[in-house]
Amino acid sequence: MREDICSIPISELFEPKKGCPICRMDAMLESRLAEYITGAAMMEPDVRIETNRLGFCSHHFDRICEVGSRLSIALILESHLKEVEERAFSAKAAPKKKKLFGGAAAPEKETCFICENMEKNRNHLVDSLLNLWGKEEEFRRLFSEQECLCLHHAHLLEDAASRLPKKAAEPFCAEVRRLSQSYLQTVEADVTHFCRMFDYRNKDGDWGNSRDAIERAIAYLTGRLYTGREDGEDKA
Ligand SMILES: [Zn+2]
Ligand SMILES: [Zn+2]
Repeated sequence: MREDICSIPISELFEPKKGCPICRMDAMLESRLAEYITGAAMMEPDVRIETNRLGFCSHHFDRICEVGSRLSIALILESHLKEVEERAFSAKAAPKKKKLFGGAAAPEKETCFICENMEKNRNHLVDSLLNLWGKEEEFRRLFSEQECLCLHHAHLLEDAASRLPKKAAEPFCAEVRRLSQSYLQTVEADVTHFCRMFDYRNKDGDWGNSRDAIERAIAYLTGRLYTGREDGEDKA
């Protein structure tokens, strides 16, 4: 796979200071990989070997169908289906295995080209992040100015901190927890405010920041990027 597909400058992810920067990283990786795999890379033999072997999870089938042409999806599926058939039904596979999907092709063990490559590249990017945090004062400041680290990515960064020297790992984890908890408290207060606005006594009250409290709370809990309300959108 081409190296530059997933290279993202870390500071670019942290510049907006809005929402979780690692959610932003995931969303970028996901859309780059989906576009890559349905673009020219689809015809590269080594990439096709991988998509034939791994397939896609249900979420990423949806994503490639959104970005790719019908023909590119069909070509990917054509050779993937052939490989699935070979693994599950061929004469070679049958005698040893009483069950249909005795091995790696078992549907419950879902593998996915995009999930695997996201994980691999996320690990590289988090390594660069830790490296920057360890040696650049300016990046530490940028990091501490973030609005939010979602619950999912706070866990991820806490785990990754074991790759830092112990002296650096402790303040890093404390910072991760501070960012994640302070956002949780903000979103909690906004959800409460949202609920109160339904009280008839508040009918002319100020919604404050609570109109998209539901979306922000779900984004915080799930690690799914939320980029803000569209203007004029009013579901409250
Ligand atoms: Zn996140
Ligand atoms: Zn996937």
